[in-house]
Amino acid sequence: MIAYVECFVHENDSESRPDGGVSSLSKALDLQGSVADCGADAARDFGGMNSISPLAFLRPAGVEDVARVVKAATRSSNLTVAARGNGHSINGQAMANRGLVLDMRSLGEHFRVVRARDGSFYADVSGGALWEDVLKRCVFEYGMAPRSWTDYLSLTVGGTLSNAGVSGQAFRYGPQTSNVTELEVVTGKGEIFNCSETENSELFFGALGGLGQFGIITKARVLLQPAPDMVRWIRLVYTEFDDFTREAELLVTRQDHGGDSFDYVEGFAFVNSDNPADGRPSVPLDPQETFDAAHLPRTAGPILYCLELARHYRKTDHSSTVDTGVNRLLGGLGFVEQLKFQVDISYVEFLLRVKRAEEHAKANGIWDAPHPWLNMFVSKSDIADFDRTVFKKILKDGIGGPMLVYPLRRSKWDTRTSVVLPESEIFYIVALLRFTPPYPKGPSSENLVAQNQEITQYCTKKGFDFKLYLPHYRSSEDWKRHFGNDRWSRFVERKMCFDPMAILAPGQKIFSRVP
Ligand code: FAD
Repeated sequence: MIAYVECFVHENDSESRPDGGVSSLSKALDLQGSVADCGADAARDFGGMNSISPLAFLRPAGVEDVARVVKAATRSSNLTVAARGNGHSINGQAMANRGLVLDMRSLGEHFRVVRARDGSFYADVSGGALWEDVLKRCVFEYGMAPRSWTDYLSLTVGGTLSNAGVSGQAFRYGPQTSNVTELEVVTGKGEIFNCSETENSELFFGALGGLGQFGIITKARVLLQPAPDMVRWIRLVYTEFDDFTREAELLVTRQDHGGDSFDYVEGFAFVNSDNPADGRPSVPLDPQETFDAAHLPRTAGPILYCLELARHYRKTDHSSTVDTGVNRLLGGLGFVEQLKFQVDISYVEFLLRVKRAEEHAKANGIWDAPHPWLNMFVSKSDIADFDRTVFKKILKDGIGGPMLVYPLRRSKWDTRTSVVLPESEIFYIVALLRFTPPYPKGPSSENLVAQNQEITQYCTKKGFDFKLYLPHYRSSEDWKRHFGNDRWSRFVERKMCFDPMAILAPGQKIFSRVP
């Protein structure tokens, strides 16, 4: 078999691969699954700025197939293996240049809900499952739901757990990486392990936020809670960044002081213009509602801010009870009173809210255009300075899409995982989710990437305490700086232990394949 793979590689190198070579590859690898007819998907991602062709795009039928492929790669001199979740990376992280790409979505539907001895409920799910499918099965079949989400759910379990998985619930429950208790992982040696906080813990914590470097996550046990029926979804407008951040921080820390709080807290900056994509019209939640700019104080600047909140409730709750609860939580907040927007929708609809935006963007041709996104974590101590220069100057004309900015809490993240964070307890996620028409109708990707660099260079020059989220670097010096000395040493040690030949996730460009 290995001889065949080597020969296959060789033939591919000389670009004289005979027809049928790919289909016989699955036989040679003894796969239960198959080889995709067209590897084009594996050469693309949501970022749309890289196109790197693999040697083959394989559809593993289960964990054994994943292990077989990785083992085969270890016996070759140069093959790498990339797990591809749903390819929603920005910078080619799920690609493998002339390597083997695994379509994790083909792993098959593994799903069951289990009750632990302590009475808690968990869902065992496939690493290749989409979160939207996990949501539907948990809610519709069991009335349960995971506690921590991402904003958009057409992402895979293994893909988000390899980064962190952040949304408006993270202030309370931590990111998705803080809400799984067990993983099944195939290491870079092709070995299959179950791991948890107490069993193979180095692999467990390494894989969480590990950028796919230590193993391929084939299963995860996700903590559940009873699912609410309904959500009151609220947006509040602020004109001053100081007021916005003070109140956002109050809301994400209120439960520490025994107080009740919202179930979801996010925020974003928007342009004080009538641009539908990132201006005032992007704020109202109900198409019947409008943003009346006459309510803005004269002092309002070119950039405004919006707190986005949600409160869960049950269908059986009386509407006056819901109103009273929400009004109590909103009491004392200093938003522009007439600029409060709200809707009541089902919990599932709320969690699938970005799907509607996806349909809209697809219809406008901006979903498939390049997306030079920038995601970062910026410490509370630097966020006001960040606002003054980045939002108010560099991005004052907007980015054609959401500019998320909201506080998170370090104490809700497990620092034993591979994720790196700023030092302070409160830090902000900043997500520049650019949606512009493809060049020449819109700006070129090069210009937008240059703008991202201007922002990160500014943060570096000012000595901000910040980290890239979904990081993307090309040199090991940059990676080392990203992790910092101690965490880098641990990252390298884990790599030596679990993937010493640097087979896995080559698209992250952290390590080079050891021949
Ligand atoms: P891929 O892009 O396919 O893979 C990402 C990396 O993980 C690659 O290096 C890949 O090799 C590796 N990988 C994939 N599967 C596995 C596995 N099973 N085991 C080990 N390694 C694996 N993130 C948030 O935190 N919050 C959000 O709200 C959010 N919203 C988003 C909205 C959109 C529209 C998009 C495009 C992205 C969003 N993201 C968000 C980012 C998202 O978490 C990342 O793109 C993540 O990589 C998940 O995408 P994926 O499943 O398609 O993984």
